[in-house]
Amino acid sequence: MKDKPTVEQYLKNIENGDFKAYKCQECDAVVAPPSGACYSCGGTDMEWTSVSGKGTLVSYTVIHVSPDEFVDEVPYYVAIVKLEEWTSVTGRLMGFDPLKPEELEIGMDLVLDYHKGKSGKTYLAFREP
Ligand SMILES: [Zn+2]
Repeated sequence: MKDKPTVEQYLKNIENGDFKAYKCQECDAVVAPPSGACYSCGGTDMEWTSVSGKGTLVSYTVIHVSPDEFVDEVPYYVAIVKLEEWTSVTGRLMGFDPLKPEELEIGMDLVLDYHKGKSGKTYLAFREP
């Protein structure tokens, strides 16, 4: 029997640098971040799926007042990225100057990466391919 996806394991995968999304067994929609039900059909039968890590920039914001975890890093970008698999995830946007938003373009290609916070915990991030 295969392991059913859990939020705990989702976070552990990120911690291990091995991001995985959920895949709905009813309609094949890829779901991330974890949700109790498929965004597309409402199904609840999920399995793990790997993603290509490729995506495009949907939206971004500059964080000036951060949680304690990233207080030494402000200002920084947080981006919403639509993955090739058609689900959108939020993560830090690395390698760009938050004071130069003209460097960013909605729809630009990005790839999945990881970023460690002050506590040593790993978070999802994105950077230029
Ligand atoms: Zn579905």
